[in-house]
Amino acid sequence: NREDGNREMVNYVMLTFDAVRRRLSQIEDTKQSTNAVIKRPDLKAGNILMTKKVRTNMNKRIGAVPGVEIGDIFFFRMEMCVVGLHAPSMAGIDYMSLKGDLQEDPVALSIVSSGGYDDDVEDSDVLIYSGHGGMSSGKEKQAADQKLERGNLALETSLHRANEVRVIRGMKDFNSATTKIYIYDGLYKVKESWVEKGKSGCNMFKYKLERIPGQPGAFTVWRSIQKWKEGLSSRHGVVLQDITSGSESIPVSLVNDVDNEKGPAYFTYFPTIKYPVSFNLVHTSYGCNCNSACVPNDLSCSCIQNSGGDFPFTANGILVSRKPLIHECGPSCRCFPNCKNRVSQSGVKIHLEVFKTKDRGWGLRSLDPLRAGSFICEYAGEVIDKFKLMQNREEIENDEYVFDTSRVCDSFKWNYEPALLGEESSNDANEDYIIPSRLVISSKNVGNVARFINHSCSPNIFWQPILYEHNNQSSIHIAFFAIRHIPPMTELTYDYGVSSSSEADNSNPFRWKKKCLCGSSKCRGHLT
Ligand code: SAM
Repeated sequence: NREDGNREMVNYVMLTFDAVRRRLSQIEDTKQSTNAVIKRPDLKAGNILMTKKVRTNMNKRIGAVPGVEIGDIFFFRMEMCVVGLHAPSMAGIDYMSLKGDLQEDPVALSIVSSGGYDDDVEDSDVLIYSGHGGMSSGKEKQAADQKLERGNLALETSLHRANEVRVIRGMKDFNSATTKIYIYDGLYKVKESWVEKGKSGCNMFKYKLERIPGQPGAFTVWRSIQKWKEGLSSRHGVVLQDITSGSESIPVSLVNDVDNEKGPAYFTYFPTIKYPVSFNLVHTSYGCNCNSACVPNDLSCSCIQNSGGDFPFTANGILVSRKPLIHECGPSCRCFPNCKNRVSQSGVKIHLEVFKTKDRGWGLRSLDPLRAGSFICEYAGEVIDKFKLMQNREEIENDEYVFDTSRVCDSFKWNYEPALLGEESSNDANEDYIIPSRLVISSKNVGNVARFINHSCSPNIFWQPILYEHNNQSSIHIAFFAIRHIPPMTELTYDYGVSSSSEADNSNPFRWKKKCLCGSSKCRGHLT
């Protein structure tokens, strides 16, 4: 039912939108290098989804939108259209006439506060919203009086009717001056309106909206993070400023605001994977011959060819599609070290935090909002060779800090649907990994932030094998990427999968080791 959504439907529409948008960006990236006009992949993706009816909550409504949760983030206005949170792709106020009440003026349904008008003042639970109109085209300054019509009139009607209005806060991305992020901040009511002279001397409408109490905080979280980052307030519960002791270029703090535990058991921080000398490394690649940076439309780049023919990442380093194996460039490639095909090699690039969870020990979360496809970190640790695997089977099975590619995960589709773009389905759409031989990594004694990532049966990150060369040998690395957009302070989790031996061994009653506490409605019940 596309009319009334639910969480699953909203997630599906959001994933489909972004997969199509990433593919369109990838196609645009190839044109950009030949100086063609840059189009807006987000608008195009939105139009495709609208036309093909891959959308939900199509009917306008007052109040909450089924499946959209407070705190959800959006990187494009079109995403809010396709899930039915805010229908207009440009205008800041969405409104409608009430059923059977055509004489009455329409009421406001949702507003997007973008800070575009120069007189906006914002506070966490109160929002002063400027009406629309009076702007001269293409300019930031107001040029004429605003009129009590359309959205302004709807907000005025909502003041009298006291109906709930959804508020979406637009904010600059902390890490990028050009990106804007939209946060769904829940339901508000219009409490006051007045007319005021703007800076340009023209009349503008002002509306004071107050947040309905009792809703989970969303925008307040963002404000706190901003204050910590700017040093305006101190972070409560910080046990250690940098758990990596300078091994990563961005410090990762250790935070506990749950109990008195001072930190996890001792381990040595190491930012990447360690292969034992005995390990038979995968074939040595010879690198590409590109002269400066590898460019998306260069079909002769051997690294791009090895990844399946398309540049694996968009220009801003976002993974486009899952691949059987991604080949990144390495030292023996002739391209520059800042080539865009080296996303996973230089450690953590986002603000991560190791924090104490209520019931699952320590966990990992990000202070930055993450886009679907963002690189998070690799799984670092010591690779266990075949002989050790055979000799120490029991010890390895009991190691809580083991990553094992032979574990069986629930399959899921992440890549774009070629048919939505009129493309033929090809092998490139294959999401099954190709790993030359089983890879088992222990991060018990030596590891990075990934050793703190807990399991979830409805995870928000996934792993992808990546091959690149180091010291003249190519080796597989396990890199984690965001499945969907992840709001700041949300725990990062992946699907640990089921041990292939315990899956086969139904007679062993001890094969289920621990109760799973992921809390997902799809929880499998146990960790193995
Ligand atoms: N929480 C760990 C810590 O404090 O170091 C970090 C993750 S460690 C790789 C894996 C262990 O975390 C598991 O053996 C289990 O004890 C715990 N854990 C992870 N996900 C869990 C879940 N969904 N439910 C219960 N325990 C979990």
